Amino acid sequence: MPMALRCSVLFATVALATFPIKAQTPPAPADLLIRGGHVIDARNNVNGVMDVLLSGGKVARMDAKIDPAPNQRVVNAAGLYVVPGLIDIHSHVFFGTEKDSYLSSGDSAVPPDNHSFRSGQTTLVDVGGAGWRNFPQFKEQVIDRSRTRVLSFLNIVGSGMKGGPIEQNLADMDAKLTAMRIRQNRDVIVGIKVAHYSGPEWDPVIRAVQAGTEAGVPVMVDFGGHTPPLSLEDLLLKYLRPGDILTHTYASVRGRIPIVDENGKLRPFVLEARKRGVIFDVGHGGGSFLWSQAVPATKQGFYPDVISTDLHTGSMNSGMKDILNTMSKLLNLGMPLRDVVRANTVKAAEVIKRPDLGHLSVGGEADVAVLNLRKGNFGFIDSGGGKMPGDQKLECELTIKGGQVMWDLNGISRPLWTEMKGGRGSQ
Ligand SMILES: [Zn+2]
Repeated sequence: MPMALRCSVLFATVALATFPIKAQTPPAPADLLIRGGHVIDARNNVNGVMDVLLSGGKVARMDAKIDPAPNQRVVNAAGLYVVPGLIDIHSHVFFGTEKDSYLSSGDSAVPPDNHSFRSGQTTLVDVGGAGWRNFPQFKEQVIDRSRTRVLSFLNIVGSGMKGGPIEQNLADMDAKLTAMRIRQNRDVIVGIKVAHYSGPEWDPVIRAVQAGTEAGVPVMVDFGGHTPPLSLEDLLLKYLRPGDILTHTYASVRGRIPIVDENGKLRPFVLEARKRGVIFDVGHGGGSFLWSQAVPATKQGFYPDVISTDLHTGSMNSGMKDILNTMSKLLNLGMPLRDVVRANTVKAAEVIKRPDLGHLSVGGEADVAVLNLRKGNFGFIDSGGGKMPGDQKLECELTIKGGQVMWDLNGISRPLWTEMKGGRGSQ
């Protein structure tokens, strides 16, 4: 065997032995200069072309023009949008292989890293997968092993979102224990979720709000399916506090009146609820976004506060697809791009009370998404299966978390291979 070949075989063997397949702590990221992109950073009132320098995992500087230093990697973002890493406040990422476990360690939930970075997201909030009983399992199984920042809204049901009778068990909805678990994990639990209860009682909502008040976090409600139906007006005006969230805003489901009435008029109490500070979230999902609701509502100026996905194996393969497809729907409904971006950055961070996220302030976390706003002929499908044509669509070029490039669609952060020593690059 020629010497050179033997050496490379030896090197490959050593390399394999040195780098186990299991994910390792990534090396400290190199300084990255993102040049010429259109920055949308609502917190800092920036909406124009700026250069952004990331160093040591933080935002180091933002200026009209920053000249590159020799140790910096330069990203040419001309013609692209540079925004804070996107936050999805309604996803289902407590994935697992337990039988009949639905979105709580079951196979209807999805692994966060498989979905987040490729669509510009650095933070995914799982809503209701875990309750106070199985939160430690969720933390060990998913949160601690993911490179995505995974946060949680604890289900008011102690056993979480396992479907069927488990979610109907009022005896397993304990406000005190829910609040206690939140206090033990303030860094990662940011809210409480109520969903799927079909009885005639308000107890799940009342107990969630009680726990939310005790722990100082918001409550998100997936409302409907009650027999007999409970009043959406009462939920929005009497039970929820300012800062609490109605998800599935543009849905029309059994046991819940839709926000737009049969004559196409937005119900006045919905506007009243917004005035008192209730948050309206898209929560698209597999069955909760209808053009017949979204078109008349947005024509009357009722855009969502937050544009979340309700990501799970059903929604990702139907009309929802991903957060950028969902945001693109709102764009095509006339919501300005800066508002669409604001909804899933600084507003989402405000809703989950994480002011450290959703902006590009100097000294803040270097979580950045670089997006391409494509123009062309596109089609967008709602959860009823109906298509609406559109002429603009967001696509993710680059996602950076903590200064580390996590996704790079077209290699805009990479040197040409011909300029790399021996074809092997360095970070
Ligand atoms: Zn959901």
